[in-house]
Amino acid sequence: MDYTTFRKQVLDKENSVVEQTKEFIKSIEDKTHLNSFITTNFEKALEKASESDKRFLEGEPRKLEGMIIAIKDNISTKGLRTTCGSKILENYVPIYDATVVERLNKAGAIIIGKTNMDEFAMGSSNETSYFGAVHHPLNSDYVPGGSSGGSAVSVAADMAFTALGSDTGGSIRQPAAFCGNIGFKPTYGRISRYGLVAFASSLDQIGTFANSIEDTAALYEVIAGVDAKDSTSANIPVEDTMLNIDNLNPKELKVAILSDVELKNCSDEVLSVYYSILRKIEQQGISIEEVSFDNFDAFIPTYYIVATAEASSNLARFDGIRYGYRAELQNGDDVIVKTRSEGFGAEVKRRIMLGTYVLSSGYYDAYYGKALKARRLIYDNYKKIFNQFDFLFLPTTPTPPFKIGEKLNDPVSMYLSDLFTSSANLGSVPAISIPLGASSQGFSVGMQIQSNHYEENKLLNFSKYMLSL
Ligand code: GLN
Repeated sequence: MDYTTFRKQVLDKENSVVEQTKEFIKSIEDKTHLNSFITTNFEKALEKASESDKRFLEGEPRKLEGMIIAIKDNISTKGLRTTCGSKILENYVPIYDATVVERLNKAGAIIIGKTNMDEFAMGSSNETSYFGAVHHPLNSDYVPGGSSGGSAVSVAADMAFTALGSDTGGSIRQPAAFCGNIGFKPTYGRISRYGLVAFASSLDQIGTFANSIEDTAALYEVIAGVDAKDSTSANIPVEDTMLNIDNLNPKELKVAILSDVELKNCSDEVLSVYYSILRKIEQQGISIEEVSFDNFDAFIPTYYIVATAEASSNLARFDGIRYGYRAELQNGDDVIVKTRSEGFGAEVKRRIMLGTYVLSSGYYDAYYGKALKARRLIYDNYKKIFNQFDFLFLPTTPTPPFKIGEKLNDPVSMYLSDLFTSSANLGSVPAISIPLGASSQGFSVGMQIQSNHYEENKLLNFSKYMLSL
């Protein structure tokens, strides 16, 4: 059930927020083997639930009254542990709320807990968390995707109505595609990053997991909008998301698709869903045309240079001195070296080393400088496409979910999971993954839609339309 349906039930006095909260708590307790939560917030959630019920009774429910939501553990929650899936922040309890959390609280949403994630959001499978891997709800031998895997699982396995995640190169869309829910990454700057622990600041974006477009829209409208605490947040009004699909005239829409060469790394299972949807789109009279991304092969290298460079700088703050874990020291030990050696996991260390290398004076021009130029070309390419087309339609991931352990020791193959997602972050455009098919094993297969900057309304409308086909 989605929140929109639940809200109607509560308004019709057929359900209550307290009852529903108890149901979600039971589901979380029954499914601890999925390992989707790092910290739960049951007591507070129940307290807030009875407050919400009161507001419903008094006829004054707020916009997200009683929306039970899970929050990725790299988003700051005052008084509630925020670990980033890392030993270095294992016992870190923030003294402030992220802007998104503040807005959720004001709108009546209820935080049920903090979800497991790849350490510092670095990963595509949710296996790099210090708190252990997250498992796919359909088959625990498989990964749920990452890095926001805990959030995707919490929504897929009935532990919350919705969840927040962060998407730096695909970390919302990819696990949403694997777990069968809707994962939405708005335009860079649409949602304040204040209180989101930084991985790669110029790519990071908070976004949503939900089971319906209505829920996605309601949540987005509350958390989006300019914020004085984040100078990169966009001062562009967030319109009410019109969900009137009747306004959409398919015959006027122009959808761009990638060429077959760009899809060569996709598995047959993903391709068969992709082509069947393309046929459906054509049957609706929507015009489809192939476009070329001259720089398609540069997506992954550019992403991994920009992301690691920024990460190496952002993660310098974890030094064992100001906050977080501090190693036990013996005479002669360097506090920073020992703390970071013990506190960070292997993937985070790999990223810090890569990032430091590409930024080093001898290699800056060859790697980081060049990546910035490539990024600009990717951005320009998007502008060219969206001057001519309404949407770009493409798979979310090249393959359905893979087995736990399958790619852990092969970083390059793991990094290729981001083949179709990272460009939206490099070009700052909004993107959404919606479940539009299934693999032979029954795993959901997600397809992705991207649109021009700040066209979230149009994107959500079209997604709703696509889900209805
Ligand atoms: N999988 C990508 C990475 O490992 C993206 C992560 C993300 O979006 N946070 O960097």
